[in-house]
Amino acid sequence: MGKKDAAVPRGREVLKLARPLAGIKRLLNHDPFISDLAALLTDVKPVIYIDIEDSHWPYLSDLCEKLRLKYVFPEGLHPEVTNPHNLFHLRPGKKHIIIGKEAGKVEKAARYWTRLGSVPWGIALGYPECCVKHYTGWKKDTTDPDIMRHIYMNTRRKDELSFKLNNTWNLYSQSRNSLKETSDFRKMDSLNPSGLQFVQVISWHPCSYDCRKSLAAADKIYDFMLHYVPEHAALLKKRLSKPVVMLDKYHFVAFNGFIDGRTLYHAGTAEPRTLIGDGVNAIIARLSKPHTREGVSRIDIPALISALGEPKAFTLNFTAEKGK
Ligand SMILES: [Zn+2]
Repeated sequence: MGKKDAAVPRGREVLKLARPLAGIKRLLNHDPFISDLAALLTDVKPVIYIDIEDSHWPYLSDLCEKLRLKYVFPEGLHPEVTNPHNLFHLRPGKKHIIIGKEAGKVEKAARYWTRLGSVPWGIALGYPECCVKHYTGWKKDTTDPDIMRHIYMNTRRKDELSFKLNNTWNLYSQSRNSLKETSDFRKMDSLNPSGLQFVQVISWHPCSYDCRKSLAAADKIYDFMLHYVPEHAALLKKRLSKPVVMLDKYHFVAFNGFIDGRTLYHAGTAEPRTLIGDGVNAIIARLSKPHTREGVSRIDIPALISALGEPKAFTLNFTAEKGK
């Protein structure tokens, strides 16, 4: 980055900016992910919260200096607490950091750090209150189904959803951290070598897919991306504008296609790869009827849902802006 270029860790995506941002011409799409950085710089989020390796610090401290961001290491404020939420991805040696434009807001968030997942913590991070309350309510009631099914049930207009709220890739915070879930998460992560959790516009789970506050925040974040990293913005839109047939968070199928009425038109399945087995793939192959000579097939959605059995599948049609 500029004359003080920090080394790029292996396998990390570098985003070339279309126009300089405080003298910065390239960003790593990692710690912070561009969706989080965009949320911070557009004031959608007063602070962002990440965990970093020591080797990442030269890059991150340089970024904070150039963008005049304040930060705090909350573990220093709460020496009696380590890993307060038992986060499975937080390996020994990683450090928590809270970053923001204003020192007062950074310090306020740091006070709630011991209560990760609580309502005050979510609100300090700038997530819409309706979404925070919905998420924390889901998290407490372990008999509840997956958060995505929950959000879907809470959505009034289900026919066309914005790709900007597509949270199917964002799996960290959908896990309840059981051994089985941790194992499933790792399996799914390994099936998607390009990574999972950075393929998102918003980094939180909305209360519904038509939540006005989340949609307004997503517009701001996405507009920032269009301005500074238009190629990345276009790629995100392409990857997220998909119809998804969902059984649960580790078992779903995203399609290259669209939904019209009760028919799913598709030219094959899309990323992310999930833990669905050969049985589901065979059902999709059996129910896919040729539609055009160019390789587009059509599936009758009620027939697919019926064939998939339990848990009853549902469709998330993130194609509202497709082709626009
Ligand atoms: Zn909401």
